Amino acid sequence: MIVHPDREDVKEVQVKCPRCGVDLQPTERHKLKVSYCQSCKGMWLEHDELEQLEDEVFDFGDRWKGTLVPRATPTNAKCPECAASLQRFRYRFYDLEMEFCPNQHGYWLDDHEDTRVLELMKQEEADLERKLLVEDKWSAMLRHMHSRSFFSRLKDLFGP
Ligand SMILES: [Zn+2]
Ligand SMILES: [Zn+2]
Repeated sequence: MIVHPDREDVKEVQVKCPRCGVDLQPTERHKLKVSYCQSCKGMWLEHDELEQLEDEVFDFGDRWKGTLVPRATPTNAKCPECAASLQRFRYRFYDLEMEFCPNQHGYWLDDHEDTRVLELMKQEEADLERKLLVEDKWSAMLRHMHSRSFFSRLKDLFGP
């Protein structure tokens, strides 16, 4: 890493876990770069600047929107980047709960949520003819949620 002692702004920002306050470690999970908490095993997914990734593998489209429970509740957890209260929302289809930053910095996924969705997807896969790797599907969904279009959908649903 290049050190710029006189340039405060070029230092890499050390984000902390909204649950336990320990430093998050950059890691790769489901083929995505995330910030991972080694203590509670949750992960922080930063807002990706890339747009419109959802058409890449799946057409989430209206199905996705229809399965978002249109209500978000503020939590005690703070955004690692701006300290705003994270908003909890639910994705009904997988009974998945996540928290997102109202300022679009990213969202937080607890370890048990992550693994539970993978299990649910494995069950679903067994029922389907489609042979797509569960890990690929989950990573596609996470990439989708990374995207700006997903955040704008959240804002549409939950915003003021
Ligand atoms: Zn943690
Ligand atoms: Zn934020």
